[in-house]
Amino acid sequence: MDSYDVVIVGGGAGAKLIWGSVPGRSVAVVEQSRVGGDCPFVACVPSKAMLRTAQVWHTVGTDQWSGLFSGRVDSERAYEEAVRRRDRIVHGRDDSLNAEGLESTGATLLRGEGTIVEPGVVDVSGTEIGYGEIVLNTGSVPSRPDIPGLESVPVWTSDEALSTSTYPSSAVIIGGGPVGCELAFLFATFGTAVTLVQRGARLVPKEEPETSSALQNLLLTRGVDVRVNARVVEMESVGAGAHATLGDASAVDADVVILAAGRHPRSQGLGLDRLGVALTAKGAVPIDERCRVRGADHVWAVGDVTGTAPFTHTAHYQGRVVAANLSGRDVLTDYRAVPRAVYTDPVFVSVGHTVASPGPSTSIRWLRGRRCRRWSGRAPKGSRTGG
Ligand SMILES: Cc1cc2nc3c(=O)[nH]c(=O)nc-3n(C[C@H](O)[C@H](O)[C@H](O)COP(=O)(O)OP(=O)(O)OC[C@H]3O[C@@H](n4cnc5c(N)ncnc54)[C@H](O)[C@@H]3O)c2cc1C
Repeated sequence: MDSYDVVIVGGGAGAKLIWGSVPGRSVAVVEQSRVGGDCPFVACVPSKAMLRTAQVWHTVGTDQWSGLFSGRVDSERAYEEAVRRRDRIVHGRDDSLNAEGLESTGATLLRGEGTIVEPGVVDVSGTEIGYGEIVLNTGSVPSRPDIPGLESVPVWTSDEALSTSTYPSSAVIIGGGPVGCELAFLFATFGTAVTLVQRGARLVPKEEPETSSALQNLLLTRGVDVRVNARVVEMESVGAGAHATLGDASAVDADVVILAAGRHPRSQGLGLDRLGVALTAKGAVPIDERCRVRGADHVWAVGDVTGTAPFTHTAHYQGRVVAANLSGRDVLTDYRAVPRAVYTDPVFVSVGHTVASPGPSTSIRWLRGRRCRRWSGRAPKGSRTGG
């Protein structure tokens, strides 16, 4: 059985900051899909690429720029261009450059699904390998709301919405978080009739109320039918599309239903029970301030699977913290200033806790009392971050 000092299960955003950054230790990365994870292929990068084209196309069509542009292509042609640009930017969803980058650091890439067999042993699609330390970086999966009839209608998650070249003429988007709002803005800009259904009283509920109302107004100006305090209670297939009934008995017909009702940690089936790890109530892998998994030795976790803050930069940050700790330093995380954005036009940007969602409070005095230092994420002099 081959053995490695460090085995990373899931070659996502967090892993990228670990492989190549633990000098003197052998590293294997187990990846069942694309090296680099979701962000570069089906999440952040394609969404921002599409949104940028939508923004430019919309801008050249506005009166104030009419003196500079003699005309613009129609929405279908613009959408085709957006897809072409997106696919070029995401390298056609081919991860070979990332795989080469990984291997150029001396780490070993093992393609397959990783499952913990027992402490110290991981099965990689039928082949067992040994580990000294294991890092879980398995990301998250879209949540699927329990709506009767959902299985009978055309449904996209954000993965499909950002990979397809199909242009829906109408869409119901379920979920008014950042992903739902960005997709609503994107498709509505290209002319899709979008209904955005948000269960709570406001969009992006983790942000300040002012952000929610400004974002809602922006979406309304793009023609999005925003329904707050609303729920889809039933779906029916009608022709090639969907007929969605809402809780107030109103109904919407659409070509496609797009699920943006949150994501949950990809923690099932990893064999964590064999290490005695108990997941949190939300299914996340519980970690301490060093990103060590609670209740197990030599087990670490980074990124969405920890349920900390579902952003690429959080995964990067935690990856750096783990790499530092695996390299003999003693580094703690500090989440007081996590930045985030909703990439509409204008972009809504925020950082740190909000009044609406204060998060864990951290006492500075208490921090000063620690011998370990909180880390702002900047690598110490002489260390490699791999990012
Ligand atoms: C539409 C959309 C837009 C987004 N936009 C942004 C944005 O603009 N900015 C931002 O900061 N964040 C954004 N995010 C969030 C961001 O994509 C995630 O927070 C980030 O990808 C999480 O990284 P990760 O390393 O935890 O997991 P991932 O990048 O998802 O990587 C996990 C990897 O683990 C692999 N894996 C899972 N289980 C196993 C297993 N058992 N064995 C082997 N491999 C396994 C998977 O194949 C995957 O490659 C967006 C998300 C979505 C859905």
